[in-house]
Amino acid sequence: MRLLIMGAPGAGKGTQATALAERFGVPAISTGDIFRHNIKNQTPLGVKVKSILDAGEYVPDDVTEEIVADRLAQPDCEPGFLLDGFPRTMHQVHFLDRYLADRGEGLDAVVSLMVEPEALVRRLLARAEIEGRADDNEDTIRRRMEVYAGQTAPLLFHYENKGLLVDVDGTGSVDDVRARMFSQVEAHVAP
Ligand code: ADP
Repeated sequence: MRLLIMGAPGAGKGTQATALAERFGVPAISTGDIFRHNIKNQTPLGVKVKSILDAGEYVPDDVTEEIVADRLAQPDCEPGFLLDGFPRTMHQVHFLDRYLADRGEGLDAVVSLMVEPEALVRRLLARAEIEGRADDNEDTIRRRMEVYAGQTAPLLFHYENKGLLVDVDGTGSVDDVRARMFSQVEAHVAP
């Protein structure tokens, strides 16, 4: 099972990604988590990307794509994977399409978690108080929303045209969204 989950900052991608990956027995791979882990440990990659994440901008495609390619080559990705936060640009979309095609593989579904913009900002500001993520402040949140709307939201059309898109309403409790998402994805991938 090869899955993607997409959604604006605050849509609940990370939370639902973990549940969905567990449901299908595949690893959840979050590029955001990989970057934050490297920043925390002050690795060369972390040092390189810290100011980019702090500003709410995207890490360059070549850097991000190399990390994803390395990660997908690990043995635990043999049965499949769930990518959370990748691809985020058209370049990354084409990279992933090519990467999979070279291996005779393809995606099974692309989950899009939809939440209205005002609710997103409210959620992110609330999370800022709990998790203390450096990019959860009002200016950076606004910038992340803009970058998402400009660069990432249009990618949904690409997957819609391929018949892969599963649009899930991301409003309501975590449990409600999870149940809704499971039944929609199962219906989509059912033979
Ligand atoms: P959110 O969706 O809430 O912004 P993420 O954890 O998915 O949170 O991403 C955090 C940050 O990591 C992004 O704002 C960006 O700087 C960087 N990042 C994550 N994934 C990518 C990607 N595929 N391409 C470029 N930058 C990325």
